[in-house]
Amino acid sequence: MHVVHTIAELRARLAGYRCVSFVPTMGSLHEGHLALVHQARTLGDVTVASIFVNRLQFAPGEDFDTYPRTLEADCVQLRAVGCGVVFAPSERELYPQAQGFTIQPPAELADIFEGEFRPGFFAGVCTVVQKLFGCVQPSVAVFGKKDYQQQMIVRRMVQQFALPIEIVTVDTIRAADGLALSSRNAYLSPAERREAVQLPMALAAIASALRSGETDVPALESEAMQSLAVRGWRPDYLVARRRSDLQPGRPGEAMVVLGAARLGATRLIDSVEV
Ligand code: AMP
Repeated sequence: MHVVHTIAELRARLAGYRCVSFVPTMGSLHEGHLALVHQARTLGDVTVASIFVNRLQFAPGEDFDTYPRTLEADCVQLRAVGCGVVFAPSERELYPQAQGFTIQPPAELADIFEGEFRPGFFAGVCTVVQKLFGCVQPSVAVFGKKDYQQQMIVRRMVQQFALPIEIVTVDTIRAADGLALSSRNAYLSPAERREAVQLPMALAAIASALRSGETDVPALESEAMQSLAVRGWRPDYLVARRRSDLQPGRPGEAMVVLGAARLGATRLIDSVEV
């Protein structure tokens, strides 16, 4: 496995490969990220993982400065799962000048849910993903369903810009109790970690009510919000939407339940397909 820090080194390493598969990450890797790499390895003749904490997707006051940075441990894990190339650029390498050209995703996709509570988040994500795509020039890129809205928006971006990249998604990897693995779980105190499973449980409750034929979606959503609020959470949203565009679904459409909530100082997000 080669660890490269510049776009020039990356290009040199990838010259000669026909089908590059790509996993973009912000590092602090766990089994969820590694599942993406496993999937990517089956899809290309070399797999690139990027590790870059992207300032553009953090709002002022969010955890950009404290986000865990564990490059050496990340590389050990990536080597063990057969990653070919790690691209870990510095900020100066990826953003040598202030990034004046940016991608603004459409409001109806990007100003709801995560975008409502994290203004500018998806513009930051789309801009860095587009830039990383330019660096890596992958044939396939792999994203996790935990960040459901993100993979949906990246898919749309790729479609609308006619980028020659296949987007593949991987199911959420969870701890034994059901909590989605996340780099931010490291922020939880032991008591919060025990409580954290209530978020996937609240999403699962909505999903199971829908599966058993319940149709009053707003009532299910507000019950689930309430169930977390009474336990001391500050839920941002818990919603059931159709998978394709996250708009309200009609009977028979494939649905997904999305949620984000704060537990103490930590904001957790998750999703469950119905
Ligand atoms: P991040 O490093 O948080 O930006 O995540 C990088 C990629 O890993 C994104 O596509 C995430 O959706 C994905 N990911 C994060 N956590 C998980 C998980 N528990 N299961 C599957 N994919 C995940």
